[in-house]
Amino acid sequence: MNENLPATKTNLLGLDLENMRQFFESIGEKPFRAQQVIKWIHEVGVQDFELMTNLGKALREKLSEIAEIKVPTVLLEKSAEDDTRKWIIQLSDGNCVETVFIPAKNRGTLCISSQVGCILNCDFCSTGKQGFSRNLTSAEIIAQLWIAVRALSLKQGFHDRAITNVVMMGMGEPMLNFDNVLPALQIMRSDFAYSLSKYRVTVSTAGVIPAMKVLREKTDVALAVSLHAGNNELRNKLVPLNKKYPLEELMQTCKDFFKDEPKRSIVMEYVMLDGVNDEPLHARQLVKLLSNMSVKINLIPFNPFPHTTYQRSTDANIDTFQRILSNAGYFTTVRRTRGDDIDAACGQLVGQVQDRTRRQERYLKARLIEAEEF
Ligand code: SAH
Repeated sequence: MNENLPATKTNLLGLDLENMRQFFESIGEKPFRAQQVIKWIHEVGVQDFELMTNLGKALREKLSEIAEIKVPTVLLEKSAEDDTRKWIIQLSDGNCVETVFIPAKNRGTLCISSQVGCILNCDFCSTGKQGFSRNLTSAEIIAQLWIAVRALSLKQGFHDRAITNVVMMGMGEPMLNFDNVLPALQIMRSDFAYSLSKYRVTVSTAGVIPAMKVLREKTDVALAVSLHAGNNELRNKLVPLNKKYPLEELMQTCKDFFKDEPKRSIVMEYVMLDGVNDEPLHARQLVKLLSNMSVKINLIPFNPFPHTTYQRSTDANIDTFQRILSNAGYFTTVRRTRGDDIDAACGQLVGQVQDRTRRQERYLKARLIEAEEF
């Protein structure tokens, strides 16, 4: 073994253009190699340096010694009656995350996870109940898109542009894993990689204000905010992060977010919990809170999970709630779960994986509701 070689190889999968340029400079190579390699990895889907024919032989050999393009393993791929698809992806430490693809008439949305578990502990969210394990690396985040693009391009009826939108609405709070989420967002947007427009990459946050401000400076992606209540008392209970970043500050941050692009609006997510936040009074509070703001509202009927005390609002209550918001001038949509039958197949998983993925399936099922909206 060559003693000059690093103990671990650098995984190039998660490097955006800037990081990739730095990498090439650090090994004494020209920075323009960055875009060539990003194209090979993300546009062509190559993992073997030997196939990168526009790099000289010496460089290919050097890269093989010090770097790698490491993609996590797909443990299972499932598809639902309605063509919703999901991949259970096993990370190198054994943890699993799920990625979901939701096809619709004129678009295909991929719902991506940013953390294993979540620290926020929102009362109505099953992931919150399972605790926090760790942040995903940039490579593990972008790998979900890499895998889905490749898998879909092999499927009949799909093509390599099947994924038109990405939403960071899987497990975790993306704005608490900012440093790793940002390069992944840049790769999604990059013309050398997935070329997704700024309107088609959405970050969803419970309201981590400092990170939202940095996100605004560093990127131009779309934003969804998990509101769920129009007053602090109720929101403190449903989204404990509200105690740290209360509604007044959050609304100010939201107002500032697209102030340079007044035509863009934030999507406000609002889970419909029976008898908790779904009465006309709550809708009116929301109207007041959001007055003069350019927002769309996405009502998400609660997706129940074992041991939860919450229940989904009735259709009648959801209709009334929606009508109040619409009459006040807010574009308001209601999403219903898709991919329901995937749950049935969940019993086919075995052992440890079954336990983990079942929790995650319940969670991801909840994500399907609103992800298809974007
Ligand atoms: N941490 C991010 C991403 C969470 S997932 C955030 O809070 O925005 C995206 C949405 O699903 C959030 O609005 C979240 O509150 C909502 N959600 C979580 N559990 C749910 C459930 N059981 N039923 C319906 N929506 C749920």
